[in-house]
Order: sequence, then C-alpha cells, then structure tokens
Amino acid sequence: MDIKKTIDKMIVSSNANIEDIVNVLDSNCDNYLFQQANNIRKKYCGDEIHLRAIIEFSNHCRCDCLYCGINRQNISLERYRMNPEEIIEYAKRAYEAGYKTMVLQSGEDPWYDRGKISYIIREIKKLGDIAITLSVGEREYDDYKQWKLDGADRFLLKHETADEELYNYLHPHSTFKNRTQCLKWLKELGYQTGSGFMIGIPGQTLNTIAKDILLLKELDVDMAGIGPFISHPQTRLRNNPTGSTNLTLKTLAITRILLKRPHLPTTTSLEVTNVRDRENAFYTGANVIMRKVQPFEYRRLYEIYPNPSIKEQSIENERKEIENYVKMMGRKISSDRGDAIK
Ligand code: SAM
Repeated sequence: MDIKKTIDKMIVSSNANIEDIVNVLDSNCDNYLFQQANNIRKKYCGDEIHLRAIIEFSNHCRCDCLYCGINRQNISLERYRMNPEEIIEYAKRAYEAGYKTMVLQSGEDPWYDRGKISYIIREIKKLGDIAITLSVGEREYDDYKQWKLDGADRFLLKHETADEELYNYLHPHSTFKNRTQCLKWLKELGYQTGSGFMIGIPGQTLNTIAKDILLLKELDVDMAGIGPFISHPQTRLRNNPTGSTNLTLKTLAITRILLKRPHLPTTTSLEVTNVRDRENAFYTGANVIMRKVQPFEYRRLYEIYPNPSIKEQSIENERKEIENYVKMMGRKISSDRGDAIK
C-alpha cells in the first residue's frame, strides 16, 4: 500500500475513511506526513502563532472523570476558587502583558452560576478588544445562550473520545449524547467552537483515533486540542502508561490535512510529556500555544495530571520568554485576537 498516495488523496479531497486514517497512523511515513501538514498549516493559517492566556479559575469539580486529577473523588487535593474580581484582575494583567485571548477554564463548578459568569464576561470585555474563550464543561442551553449575549466568543469542550461506550465508561456522571449535544448547541449559538481528545486513554485503538478525527470534521470545529493522556496517581486510571507523543503528532498532522483551517494548539500535556515535542508540534500542524496566568499557588493546584514544569514566573516574563521562543523558531507572533479562520 502506498501511504504517500493515501496522504495525497487526503490533501486533495479533505476526506478519508477510517481505514485510510488507521493506515497512515500505523505507517512509518512520518517525515512525509509532517512535511505535508506543515505546508498546509502555512498555506491556510500562515506563519503566525497565537498566544492565549488561560485562567484556570476553580479546581472544584462535580465530575467523576476516570482520568482526571481534579475529579470529585480526589479528597487529597486542596481545592480553590478565584472570586470574580480576582479573575477580572488577572485578565487585566494578562491583557496588559499583550494577550488578546483569555481562556477561562475550570472544573464543572456550579458555584459559578449563570449570573456570576455573565458578570465576569461583561467586565473583561470592558478592558479592551479581548476574545473570551469559555471552558467550563457541560451546562444548560440557556447558560450558553446568555454568555454568548454577554460577549463570550469561543467555547472549548473536548469530546474526549468518539467511542460512545468508552466515553460513557470514562464519564459516569455524563453521557456521550449529552456532550455532543452541548457541542452542537454551542455551534448553533454562534460560538467559535473547540473540541478535542486525548491520545493513549486506556481502551482507545487506532480505529478510535480515526473516529475522533472524523468527529472533529463532522462537528466542523474551529479549534481542536489533541494531547497525550498522562496518568494521575489519584485516579482510577493510575498505573496506565502515558500516551505516545509520536502518535499525538501524527494525529495532529492528519487533523491539519483533513480539516485545513482550525486552530490547533500544542497542548500542555504534550509539552509535559516531552518538551521537544512542543516544538515538533509547530512543524506538524500546530499554530497556537497557551500560558497559565492565574496566581502561582493555583497553577500547582489545577492538577489534572502531574506537571513538574509549572514555573513561578511573572505573566510578563513568561510572555517574553514565549515570544523569544516563537521568534527563534522563525515564526511570527500574531498581533490580533486569532479568531477562527474561515
Ligand atoms: N471541565 C471542563 C470540561 O470538561 O471541558 C474543562 C476542564 S477539563 C479538566 C480540561 C481537559 O483536561 C479535559 O478536556 C481533558 O481532555 C484534559 N485532561 C484531564 N485529565 C487529563 C489527563 N490525565 N491527561 C491528559 N489530559 C487530561
């Protein structure tokens, strides 16, 4: 079988069946695949890298995800909540340091009701031309609707796995049907919508990854986060191996080839697993990077997986460091909000 031909066919048709994707994932044709994904990234997204600030504002969570360190059963984790004024203050600091996108992420924490999140969105919007990305999990349609009216621009809600049975096993508090329903509502309401999944989650096969990529396509996502699973000692999936970074890069590359335009971040979990693969991701299709900007004590406590690389660095210094890193790679730093490329 000629894998190069299969890749070329994907480039031209922006389509593939499960078998084609599995064959490419299973092949040794990495150099050709990565080169083609890099060309497509350049053609459709240019050389700019978008820097996003992420404020992980609460590690309280009502969910039971079998893989996640902040799952509600982890009683050894110290929990925190940032109050709305503190969130707005840190968004202001990040904006002043040069960030034009604030990703507001948390566990599923009902303490932040519709009104509190509305208030936070409206106040951040008053600070300047800032795009707001929410990532607060599954909520009611009317919550999503109100926050869009308040000015939220984007929403990240990873589908985690396209295998319905596996999804339902990994998320005893939820269902795959509800997760995908939320994603469809978000699209309908006009959010720039992001989804994504983990590589190496126990129970996943190459077939599942192929379905994951095709689901991103079906959902017509504007962004997709794809990163390796990292096991956390306080979860039921402890003792499982970390997902392969090479398979993550291949998945990223196929996603870029089939979907062309979505923003694809080099995820923190990829960076944690192998810092050199952060750079490699920028040559296999990625064009976005996120930095934590909440207070240091909370960065450590937002422990979805063990992350020894968390730095106690000011927002300004870390921004400068990442700007230098982007320039060193010969890429440009985007000076705009980095909205969806249509
Ligand atoms: N609660 C929100 C939600 O459900 O979308 C956002 C927060 S959730 C902690 C953010 C993401 O962390 C999840 O979508 C999941 O993919 C990722 N994550 C959690 N545990 C992980 C692990 N052990 N390894 C890699 N990624 C993980």
